[in-house]
Amino acid sequence: MALPPLVEPAAELSIDEIRRYSRHLIIPDVGMDGQKRLKNAKVLVVGAGGLGSPALLYLAAAGVGTLGIVDFDTVDESNLQRQVIHGVSDVGRPKAESAAASIREINPLVNVVIHNTALDRDNVKEIFSQYDLIVDGTDNFATRYMVNDAAVLLGKPYVWGSIYRFDGQASVFWEEHGPCYRCLYPEPPPPGMVPSCAEGGVLGVLCASIGSIQVNEAIKLITGIGEPLVGKLMVYDALEMEYRKIKVRKDPNCALCGDNPTVTDLLEDYEDFCGAVSTEAQEATVDATITARELKDWQDAGKDVFLVDVREPAEYEINRIPGSVLIPKGEILSGEALSRFPQDRQIVLHCKSGVRSAEALAALKAAGFKDAVHVQGGIVSWVNTVDPSQPSY
Ligand SMILES: [Zn+2]
Repeated sequence: MALPPLVEPAAELSIDEIRRYSRHLIIPDVGMDGQKRLKNAKVLVVGAGGLGSPALLYLAAAGVGTLGIVDFDTVDESNLQRQVIHGVSDVGRPKAESAAASIREINPLVNVVIHNTALDRDNVKEIFSQYDLIVDGTDNFATRYMVNDAAVLLGKPYVWGSIYRFDGQASVFWEEHGPCYRCLYPEPPPPGMVPSCAEGGVLGVLCASIGSIQVNEAIKLITGIGEPLVGKLMVYDALEMEYRKIKVRKDPNCALCGDNPTVTDLLEDYEDFCGAVSTEAQEATVDATITARELKDWQDAGKDVFLVDVREPAEYEINRIPGSVLIPKGEILSGEALSRFPQDRQIVLHCKSGVRSAEALAALKAAGFKDAVHVQGGIVSWVNTVDPSQPSY
């Protein structure tokens, strides 16, 4: 689905600009018109870290007229393996300032706006409202959901990316034209279940692979060329050198952009939201939790297991445990899928990290399936402990 350009063209390009951007100007799809739109564009990059570094460098070089940088962190030596916008002499310096200095060196025609602050519920809307487009390079779920919610509430498009070890994902979320991040991932994983890049590691160059996709999408949106990743999830596996595009539909039950939204303003506390598991779910998992390794042992021993993946269809496309059937959590909670569960087999539920499966387990037990169990740590744990050859996300 092609979309109209996000930004009106600037009145003109200077002689300096025409010289600088000549390799863009001779591409028919970009041309003078596209370059003028880039000049007029205001793009905010959230985080001057792994994804933000390449994104800022290429957005600046491309001639985006106004570039905002939000980051409250300072440059650490361990950042230099992948955060290529910073150098040795920047260690200890605020990342936003260090990034701004690099941008001025690459392209002094860019107006750089520094937001040397942590994005929070009190400033996010005010900051976002100054920009046409957001590029999300955050590395934690609390900020990621807040970025999504603020963008949807303000009607802004944003380009999202995430990275872990050798695996990356990217998409464009624009509520007006497609799904939002909550449509794809309705709930965050519980804290500690999905390791961050600081805990699990990330291949430095993966930042460039995903960051450059984000810039590519930003340029397409601004100039109105090509097919943006709206309603599509790009999944990249650096080890297999494989890109896959997965269709993501707008979820009519989405808490934010669905037909009957329950989230109508920013949440009070995103950290809290990202740690929430209901009491019923906690109680249901007592003596009804197995590890990924135990599931594998059951399968290898030939135990008659009815293994149910309660994630969303797009997640099931990314990775899956062999032998599982997909029944999304919502269909279990609503009761519509209960007839698909056998009475005489061992029911095992799993999701990404164990939160959704715990909730589905509570609903199943309430419906009389007393012996059902769920997998602790979900498919993340399965990939980490049983089958590392599967992609993770
Ligand atoms: Zn949504």
